Amino acid sequence: MTMTESAKVRHPEKRNRPDNPIQRKPSWIRVKAPTSQVYRETRDIVKANGLHTVCEEAACPNIGECWAKKHATFMIMGDTCTRACAFCNVATGTPAPLDAMEPENVAVAVATLGLEHVVITSVDRDDLPDGGAEHFVRVIQATRHHAPNTTIEILTPDFKGKQGAVESVTDARPDVFNHNLETVPRLYPGIRPGARYFTSLELLHRVKRIDPTLFAKSGLMVGLGEAREEVHQVMDDLRAADVDFLTIGQYLQPTPKHAAINRFVTPDEFDSYAAVARGKGFLMVSASPLTRSSYFAGDDFKQLRAARDARNDGANGAE
Ligand code: SF4
Repeated sequence: MTMTESAKVRHPEKRNRPDNPIQRKPSWIRVKAPTSQVYRETRDIVKANGLHTVCEEAACPNIGECWAKKHATFMIMGDTCTRACAFCNVATGTPAPLDAMEPENVAVAVATLGLEHVVITSVDRDDLPDGGAEHFVRVIQATRHHAPNTTIEILTPDFKGKQGAVESVTDARPDVFNHNLETVPRLYPGIRPGARYFTSLELLHRVKRIDPTLFAKSGLMVGLGEAREEVHQVMDDLRAADVDFLTIGQYLQPTPKHAAINRFVTPDEFDSYAAVARGKGFLMVSASPLTRSSYFAGDDFKQLRAARDARNDGANGAE
């Protein structure tokens, strides 16, 4: 993946960081260049509706594969984030005011792409009184209106813990409520300095307490210097918060101004993480070098629903 990285680094906190050389990727992380016709159609629909995608903004390595299947993940509330996380390629700065037409435009794009399942995420909007919760609600409502058969997965920020934010988004009833922990608590000060591990964990737990029928999902990046035992502890914390679905992927350094990769985790280690997580009771686990929150999210959602049905059938049968 190549982006004009330095042009994207618009925040003094990021610009002033020392350079970390980017390591060569191992053979298991090679991705194909995006060339297909469907990729171009997806890009045109995104552009025609004036939308942003995390696929582009985060320089996701899977864009060629996902967009060739029209799987784009929309990033709402602008392309500028109020935080400057050390792993994230999204530009940081003072965001523009919210676009009142964005909910409609996202919904039309979802309908035009004919998506069975859509993932909608956002930048952090700590400048807004509700952290952007109502805008999420409007996007969910517009999408339900224009694409009633599309299942909706939201990947939210922590809303800075603003009162009522999680409740209003949960009340809009997305099918999946995703919020990523990103890394182990010990690494938060360096990797996710504007966030608190237990605030994020509590957000997920609150979603399940408000509506246990919603699927809760979270994700981790590995390769940042975490110990295996720390990852296992995060799994335990997520299960204690009743989270259903865990994704684990390799952290890839977007630019020299971002956190350095500590190491490349091998495919066998990902398989081992997946086995441990399943043993801890997650309904679904996706763990591989190129796993991202939204990678194959539509296929995963079908499996998630089937896994819950099977678990419920098993519980009923055992009564
Ligand atoms: S994995 Fe997610 S962010 Fe990356 S290209 Fe696919 S849909 Fe976009």
